[in-house]
Amino acid sequence: MDFSLNETHSMIRETARKFADERIAPGTIDRDEKEEFPREIVRELGELGFMGMMVPEEWGGSGLDTTAYVFALEEISRVDASVGVIMSVNNSLVCYGINKDGTQAQKEKYLRDLASGKKLGAFALSEPEAGSDASNQRTTADRDGDSYVLNGTKNWITNGSTADIVLVMTATDKAKGAKGISTFIVEKGTPGFTVAKKERKLGIRSSDTVSLSFADCRVPAANRIGAEGDGFRFAMKTLEGGRIGIAAQALGIAQACLDASVSYAKERKAFDRPIAELQAIQFKIADMATNIDASRMLTLKAAALKDAGEPFGPDAAMAKLFASHTAVESALEAIQIHGGYGYVREYLVERYLRDAKITEIYEGTSEIQRVVIARSLLR
Ligand SMILES: Cc1cc2nc3c(=O)[nH]c(=O)nc-3n(C[C@H](O)[C@H](O)[C@H](O)COP(=O)(O)OP(=O)(O)OC[C@H]3O[C@@H](n4cnc5c(N)ncnc54)[C@H](O)[C@@H]3O)c2cc1C
Repeated sequence: MDFSLNETHSMIRETARKFADERIAPGTIDRDEKEEFPREIVRELGELGFMGMMVPEEWGGSGLDTTAYVFALEEISRVDASVGVIMSVNNSLVCYGINKDGTQAQKEKYLRDLASGKKLGAFALSEPEAGSDASNQRTTADRDGDSYVLNGTKNWITNGSTADIVLVMTATDKAKGAKGISTFIVEKGTPGFTVAKKERKLGIRSSDTVSLSFADCRVPAANRIGAEGDGFRFAMKTLEGGRIGIAAQALGIAQACLDASVSYAKERKAFDRPIAELQAIQFKIADMATNIDASRMLTLKAAALKDAGEPFGPDAAMAKLFASHTAVESALEAIQIHGGYGYVREYLVERYLRDAKITEIYEGTSEIQRVVIARSLLR
């Protein structure tokens, strides 16, 4: 086992760190306050090659491995977890899905622009009645000649109002349940496809989360990804990889909590000495650092398995479960270390807590990750 970084990984991490500190950090607080989508930052991430990191170069991507992606996403999320999730959805769900199961024609038409950051994608699985129970799809797609007609509502869709292209899971044969679900590529501007409602959120407030509505929305049959009925398998497989991305996002938030806590503890004095000299504070920092390192190891292990073509689903679930818990716990401890200053908006740590919580919910809640892990052991 080699724990050293290769040249590419070091270079990607450094590039992401510099971009995050110099370009993303200055506007983070303001965008969070105004719930403002970081359009220019996303455009620049595309230019850096960070919007389609794992897509082969022939399709406009950077041709990198999942490990490089983890390093980049951790660094970006350390500074702004909203930017992290925008990047994560485009990379691990949309680009990955089309690259893996799309036709040559779909790759030609959509993947190149998505992977190079010229266009942005969204992934629409969740519905008002279908979250953890994602097979309970109410959105329908009825075949009509050379097209399908979509009707229904999708909930909580990241990048939903800004995306040029949305991957939409629908029921094409309700009687078949999970085996009757199909995925379609739907372009923004298709008649019958509208943004229904923007969500106002606790955290990751500058990311774009909306519900989407489909009313007699006609989509060419050529836009179906994979066979009819393959959509649930497609979604679950894609989300397995997505969980590595969310683990990396959580890791970035947790690392930010540790960095802020270390520097504040050295600077803040109580009873005439820095609070860093108090064992109560030292233990919090030691626990935080240990859990962060364990999260990083789990995340990199899942990434390495994925890159080696090995099964990685339960490992990705473990990484997300542990890293997201670590992010929430680290944020709570960081606030405690900052005392009253941790509770106010002027300091960054209250945002870390608001941002951290979502990593325990989306792309499968922590309970669902435990279901995935236990099922792999008990079958
Ligand atoms: C900010 C944000 C962004 C999102 N982005 C996207 C996106 O881009 N695309 C998309 O498709 N979805 C997205 N989601 C939806 C997200 O994936 C779902 O919210 C999540 O899967 C949980 O579903 P739910 O909200 O319906 O909760 P429910 O499924 O109703 O769960 C409620 C509670 O019950 C528990 N529970 C449910 N079933 C089980 C079980 N079998 N065993 C144990 N406990 C269980 C859950 O863990 C949870 O605690 C997003 C959500 C948010 C808030």
